[in-house]
Amino acid sequence: MNYRNSPIEKITFNKNSFYIKRDDLLHKNFSGNKARKFYYFLQKDLENIKKVVSHGSAQSNAMYSLSVLAKIKGLQFDYYVDHIASFLKQNPTGNYKYALENGMNIYESQIPKSFDEETLFIKEGGALKEAQYGLEILANEIIVWAKENNIENLKVFLPSGTGTTALYLQKYLPFEVLTCACVGDEEYLRKQFFQLEDSNHPTILKRTKKYHFGKLYKEFYEIYLELLSQTKIEFDLLYDCLGIKIFEEYISKYNKTTNNYLYIHQGGVLGNESMLQRYENKYKA
Ligand SMILES: *Cc1c(COP(=O)(O)O)cnc(C)c1O
Repeated sequence: MNYRNSPIEKITFNKNSFYIKRDDLLHKNFSGNKARKFYYFLQKDLENIKKVVSHGSAQSNAMYSLSVLAKIKGLQFDYYVDHIASFLKQNPTGNYKYALENGMNIYESQIPKSFDEETLFIKEGGALKEAQYGLEILANEIIVWAKENNIENLKVFLPSGTGTTALYLQKYLPFEVLTCACVGDEEYLRKQFFQLEDSNHPTILKRTKKYHFGKLYKEFYEIYLELLSQTKIEFDLLYDCLGIKIFEEYISKYNKTTNNYLYIHQGGVLGNESMLQRYENKYKA
C-alpha cells in the first residue's frame, strides 16, 4: 500500500485561523490515527501470524482499520464485543458494515483467556507500544513541514480517546502537544499516559462540562454542520466536535497572536455514518 505524507492546510473557523494536518486523507481505506497506530503491523512481515484478535465497541474506528489490515495481510480477523445493538445488526452501517464486508468475524462474548503464537492480539483502541512507530513518522512529517515553512511557536492539538496518539506525538515532537479527554475524564487520560510512558506527557486541557462518550449532544451536531459549511471538511462526531470546542476556547483565550496552531484531523469519518443516522433521527424532526 502506498503510504504518503498527508497534506497540511490553513483553515479559518469562527474567525480563528489554524493549520490542519489532514490524516483523514492518508488513504481511502486506511486513514486517520488508526492507520498511524497500526502502521507498524502493516509494514511488518507477519509471516508467522494467522489471525488478528481485538475487542471494543461494535462501531469502533479501530475495528474497521484492523479489518483492512487483516484483509491486506490475508489474515483472519476475530473481534469481541459486549453487545451489538439489535438495530445495528438488522441495519448494518458505518464501521460495522464495512468491517463485516472485509470478512470480520464478530463475537458477542468475552475475549479468550489466552492465544496461540499465531495470533496477534491488539488491545482495545490500539493503545500499544507498537503505535509509536507510525506516530514517530507523523511527528517527523510535522517537524519537516514546520522547518520548511518557518513556522515558529507551534502548538499541536488533537482530541484523545486512549491518549496513545497524543502521548507518542509529544514524545517525538519538540512542540507542546495539547489534548482533551473525550472518553472518560482527565484522570482516566492521565492514567492512560502513565501506562505507556512515565514522563513527557501532553498538556490536558480541561473540559468545562461533562460529556459521555458516544452520547448524542445537539451542540456536537451543530459544530459538525458548522465545520462542514465553513471549512468544507468533514470532522468526526465523536472526538473532533468536542475537541474543536475545547481547542477554540483555548485559542481565543491564550496567546492567539504569538502562537501558531496545528490541529490533527485523525480520520474516523466512516464512523459518522451511523452517528449521523442517530442525530438525524433525533434532531431533524
Ligand atoms: C481513535 C480515535 C481517536 C483517539 O485516539 P487515541 O490514540 O486513542 O487517543 C481520536 N479521533 C479519532 C477520529 C479516532 O478514530
